[in-house]
Amino acid sequence: MPSKITAPRGTQDIFPPVTRAWLALETVIHDLARRFGYGEIRTPMFEATELFVRGVGETTDIVEKEMYTFLDKGERSMTLRPEWTAPVMRAALEHNLFSHGPQRLYYVGPIFRYERPQKGRYRQSHQFGVECTGFAGPEADLEVIALAWELVRAHGITDAELNINSIGDDVCRPKYRDALLEHFRPHVHELSADSQRRLDRNPLRLLDSKDERDRPFIETAPSFESVLCDACREHFDALKAYLGECNIPFVVNPQIVRGLDYYTRTVFEITSSALGAQSTVCGGGRYDGLVKSLGGPDVPAVGFALGIERFLMMIEAVHGERALPRSGVQAIALGSQARAALVPVAVELRRLLDAPVFMDYEDRKLLAHLKIADRNHARFALVLGSDELAGGHIVVRDLETREDRRVPLGRAADVAAALGEAR
Ligand code: ATP
Ligand code: MG
Repeated sequence: MPSKITAPRGTQDIFPPVTRAWLALETVIHDLARRFGYGEIRTPMFEATELFVRGVGETTDIVEKEMYTFLDKGERSMTLRPEWTAPVMRAALEHNLFSHGPQRLYYVGPIFRYERPQKGRYRQSHQFGVECTGFAGPEADLEVIALAWELVRAHGITDAELNINSIGDDVCRPKYRDALLEHFRPHVHELSADSQRRLDRNPLRLLDSKDERDRPFIETAPSFESVLCDACREHFDALKAYLGECNIPFVVNPQIVRGLDYYTRTVFEITSSALGAQSTVCGGGRYDGLVKSLGGPDVPAVGFALGIERFLMMIEAVHGERALPRSGVQAIALGSQARAALVPVAVELRRLLDAPVFMDYEDRKLLAHLKIADRNHARFALVLGSDELAGGHIVVRDLETREDRRVPLGRAADVAAALGEAR
């Protein structure tokens, strides 16, 4: 016997009924993005490796250890998309979108990261995210945060927390860098290996470390707010005022810096205690330097990425697994003659009804068919046996109330009407 082939570690097969929850969330996402005036963008699942090295940053976890990189047959180094922002900016640049003014783009789809698989952390996962380009002011920051928060609010997730911070710009960042160096350097040998290595190249990165050894030093690190330049402080204060006016609750958390290198000013995360160790469901911020660093014009931008798997976990933690409501019809034919008469009716009903029409084509007893109807969560059964066939009618059984009624066999429209009345 050949051995069974299983899905790669850290990946998940998603199939019914779970796909229903995915589809429902994706439907809400597309609708929400539309209401905020965002258009969908789809980019290739792989890109030149260089894009992520430049667009995400060499000292990030993603580039240092998480990328799925391979040489294609032409010896070019390619990488499976580990995040969407760099590809979206690459595409916008390539197709000259920035010359048409501000852009509002969103995406939904898979990312690939070589991680240690655990609850809420996979090697293929999915993100919904938005990118708003062309606005330097805090209104755009508010807009993307409001969009993310609306998704949380619309799902009645009450334990979610919005954390915001500002990590300054080219003017005040160097001062903060120095303050951090001064803070961490005396303890360099007590830090994790990653942090020791990153200290000189990018001390901000240390604040993002999840290593327990770094914890105590992160907790006592100076906050960026103390060194923000006037322009950055004004921007941050305006954002906070807007959030207040829009009734979006937040906390200022000086430890939030975000994983990518090109963030400027606003950074934010949405967390939930329902998620356990992987508590962050959404992360974002402003990255005014990114487009330029990819060889484009100086275009300010702000956005976020939200993990679909973690968001679904939050929904389930709050609402539990929702019982599927009964819907649709199980067409049940008893015998080959009845089957021949019922198959065209089922096909026609699929045109007429806004609900699933199921039919099993094997010879089975009525009871077996009704079991299948239960498994399909069908609300009605249409039963056609030899007696009904001779009498020229179909029995419509309401599987919730167990009531039977008869409808003439001839036209599917009559059956559809009867189902409508019985509902
Ligand atoms: P973490 O700190 O949990 O590693 P991150 O900072 O690497 O997250 P981002 O790159 O900001 O995450 O991605 C945004 C969101 O995408 C995360 O908050 C999370 O919900 C989701 N996400 C990222 N990586 C994974 C993964 N490997 N598996 C599942 N979801 C993920
Ligand atoms: Mg990560």
